[in-house]
Order: sequence, then structure tokens, then C-alpha cells
Amino acid sequence: MKTQPTPEKHRCSKRVYSGLRHDFGGHMCTRAASVEEESKWWCAMHVPSTVAKRRQEKSEEWERERQQQRATWEAERQREARRDKLEAAAPKVIAALEELISIASDMSDDEIAKMSPGQVAGEITWRDITKARAALADLKGE
Ligand SMILES: [Zn+2]
Repeated sequence: MKTQPTPEKHRCSKRVYSGLRHDFGGHMCTRAASVEEESKWWCAMHVPSTVAKRRQEKSEEWERERQQQRATWEAERQREARRDKLEAAAPKVIAALEELISIASDMSDDEIAKMSPGQVAGEITWRDITKARAALADLKGE
């Protein structure tokens, strides 16, 4: 690529297409050429190496956008999968908690009100705890 050294007048070598009916075959770019490349003269916009560079940059930008879109979809897919898992595990956790609470709640409100924070209420068994643990593990996705 070399820049025009003299004010010698060249026209751009690029054929452009307006898409208009009267311009069926396109027409030559009307801008003055300022750069010689591939043995032809070009205006700043149509220099082949510049056009190729622009095309490459555009293609890289699209690729970045595609990847970002893919990452967004993947994140959304994971959120939905997590929600589905939580939704499926919730009934078991609710049942286990209700079971634990019912075991501990065979007391009147009066009795409960008189309890101290560390006092044991009801008789929770190993089986109750195991059920609650399994349900909780499900909910946490373990
Ligand atoms: Zn041109």
C-alpha cells in the first residue's frame, strides 16, 4: 500500500451497487482515489486491505456477540435447572420439617411458652433425622 505522492487525479476502482433500478449493473465509486494497492487506485473507504480488515473486525465482533449470547443462554438454562431441582425437592423438605415439628409439638402452647431454649421437646428419632437430612441434601443438590 502506498500513498499517492503527487496531486495526480485518480478515481477509485471500486464498482458500487446502489440497488436502484436505473443502476442495474452498479457504477464506479465517484470518490477520488488516494491509495494504490493491488496495482489499482482506491478511495480511503475501498482500499482492499482496509475492507478486509473491517470485514475481519466485524466478523470477530459477531463471534464475541454469539459467545456472549451462548453464555447468557447457558446461565439461564442452569438457573432453570436449579429452580426445577428446588421445586422437585421442596415437598420432601416440607414434609420432613412438618414431621419434626409435629413430633416436637405434642405439647400445649402453655407448655411450649414455659420451655427454656435448650430444653428437649418430643422424641425425635434417628429415622426422623435421617429423613430430614435426605430431604435437605436433595434440596441442596448434594
Ligand atoms: Zn471508493
